[in-house]
Amino acid sequence: MQSANQGRLIVFVGPAGAGKTTLAHRLIAASPNLRAFSVSHTTRPMRATETDGQDYHFIGRSQFEQMAADGQFVESALVHDNYYGTSRAEVVRHIDAGRDLFFDIDIQGAINLHRQFADQTLLVFIVPPSWAVLVSRLEGRGSETDQTLRRRLRTARAELQQVRDSSLPWQLVINDRIDVAEADLAALLAGQRSVAATDSDVLLQMGQDANSDPRAADTVVIAPS
Ligand code: 5GP
Repeated sequence: MQSANQGRLIVFVGPAGAGKTTLAHRLIAASPNLRAFSVSHTTRPMRATETDGQDYHFIGRSQFEQMAADGQFVESALVHDNYYGTSRAEVVRHIDAGRDLFFDIDIQGAINLHRQFADQTLLVFIVPPSWAVLVSRLEGRGSETDQTLRRRLRTARAELQQVRDSSLPWQLVINDRIDVAEADLAALLAGQRSVAATDSDVLLQMGQDANSDPRAADTVVIAPS
């Protein structure tokens, strides 16, 4: 049960290219004493642009397995062949200090957090304005191979479907312009705005476009040798 001055878990889920991390950091920068970013542990190799302890705690597989066995993760998942986990101690430390804690995690992790902290968790699905914009943002990054692009689109399609079918109270934020999305999120956090993801025509349309995009299809086509 949530006590009066505890912080909340603000959980951002959405496709790569939706701007979740940028939005979380902008909101935190606006109120740094009241908000913090949940730094997950991962076995994924660190990227050149990342800082250990800031983007993630980068650890080896055996250390991750030991932490999991010791019950140190409030949730953990295997995403794209790497392990990711949220430390229970870190969540408790922030929310007990009255800080809202922002998460950028996969949908399964979000559902797990909601299960454990239902009263304190705000589930937010963040999407670009259309499937076409999502695809062009990913292509525009220049960092995706054909294979990773397909994998991200498959994941996006599955998450769209899961949110649309979910019985959980997902809120929707459309990130077309980042400053507008940030203002929408600020209003959502202040309890001044509510857009249920399941009611959204934009999400319905995106799901339909995803379903008809062959790059997001589940089937693996094996080229004849
Ligand atoms: P990336 O490796 O690109 O930073 O993240 C890959 C995926 O893992 C993203 O969907 C991200 O949201 C998710 N992720 C990052 N940290 C966690 C975590 O602690 N738990 C779960 N369940 N997913 C995470």
